[in-house]
Amino acid sequence: MNDFYKRINAPASSNRTRSVIFRIEMLHTRVTTPSALGLRKPIVWMLIVTLVTVYGLVAGVVRAASSRRTAPSDAVGRLLNDPRVNAARQQLRGAEPATIETQVSLCEIASPPFREEARGRAVSALFAEAGLSRVRVDAVGNVLGEFAAHGAGPHVVVSAHLDTVFPPGTDVTVRRQGDTLRGPGIGDDCRGLAVLVALARVAGAGLVTTDGPVTFAATVGEEGLGDLRGVRYLFDHMDGIGRFISLDGGGLSVVSKAVGSLRYKVTFSGPGGHSYGSFGMANPIHAMGRAIDAISEFRVPTDPRTTFNVGRVGGGTSVNAIAAQAWMEVDLRSSDGPALAELDRRFRAAVDKAVADENLRWGGRSPVTATVERTGMRPTGRTPDSDPLVISTLALTQALGESVTLAEGSTDSNVAMGRGIPAVTLGAGGISRGAHSPDESFTTTGSVLGTERALLVVLVAASGTP
Ligand SMILES: [Zn+2]
Repeated sequence: MNDFYKRINAPASSNRTRSVIFRIEMLHTRVTTPSALGLRKPIVWMLIVTLVTVYGLVAGVVRAASSRRTAPSDAVGRLLNDPRVNAARQQLRGAEPATIETQVSLCEIASPPFREEARGRAVSALFAEAGLSRVRVDAVGNVLGEFAAHGAGPHVVVSAHLDTVFPPGTDVTVRRQGDTLRGPGIGDDCRGLAVLVALARVAGAGLVTTDGPVTFAATVGEEGLGDLRGVRYLFDHMDGIGRFISLDGGGLSVVSKAVGSLRYKVTFSGPGGHSYGSFGMANPIHAMGRAIDAISEFRVPTDPRTTFNVGRVGGGTSVNAIAAQAWMEVDLRSSDGPALAELDRRFRAAVDKAVADENLRWGGRSPVTATVERTGMRPTGRTPDSDPLVISTLALTQALGESVTLAEGSTDSNVAMGRGIPAVTLGAGGISRGAHSPDESFTTTGSVLGTERALLVVLVAASGTP
């Protein structure tokens, strides 16, 4: 679907505008049909010029309508004109060097998958020092702190994740080159954690108040096989969360669509034997090869974006042995639930068929079997473009002089979106590069915009009428 069609399908365009565009589109199609070209006739040219002009005007109307849709709501306007909020933003601007110091110091505490305790203890101390109440570590290792409500508004959770993708033993020293910081996890998600702490400091110092209560959360298990276990536990054990905001990485991106994923480890097994002496039996590696061949030929939709990957393989003991075992790790993703379910069905069928074909090939002698173990499942979901949280986030970003388009991603917000709770994942400012690589970097240019926007989005989310 091209942008033009997307626009005519935009909810903001009235039925009348939509039907006008539709008629123009019909004419447009007819004029550009080769058999009807007749470009030498002046009347055709006049018609084309008229159509282009009308198209431009109508497209303008639709654009205006869609920008009205994202115009700052009353709450956003009030927030931007509130002297206390402006003072808090001023404070954040002054404190940005300290925020960056926090980012560096947290990042120099290793936080491998499933080993987030040390960094968690540091965040816990910072939450307490900032003045949040009921600072605690829950059963899975999430660090939580509370900011009390001053009125009637939704309960907001604002989070960043503690874990990294880097294994124990990784050198986590942060190196500085001018305004660029280099180190594993410096952007993803030490930046989010530092901004979370900066907001806790502003809140704890009483510089702002919110209508609804705000829970500050540093979560475990956001990355890879962590499988969002921290945020999942949070939602399973905390009732009444009204809105969820995740601060993840740099930039000023806004993720409102959750890319769901399914991850598997598939193990193919058989008796195994000598490559020469036992020749004639089914071979687990050959069966896996058949499965990978079938998977690699999958045709998947580009919209909704749907992807597959065999990421790791292993097995066998020797070049002259028929393997007793082979395994592969598979990642399937889509931002669309039914598309992901369909891909999942085809993946399982491909494994079954590969095993059946391999066994058939060798007449059923010493058959191979496959076990499919699910190692990860992230729900799909989305916060509608018309949701007040999304509209306010875009309006506040625009008010800071930046424009962004809504993106999709796989983040802590998946869990909220999967449960129908409005959520956004925000870039926390600056410029993040090379996430998940040991050479990850973060450039501090303009980073305070991310801090300020995070504050404003939390305030508007916790207000009764965003
Ligand atoms: Zn992240």
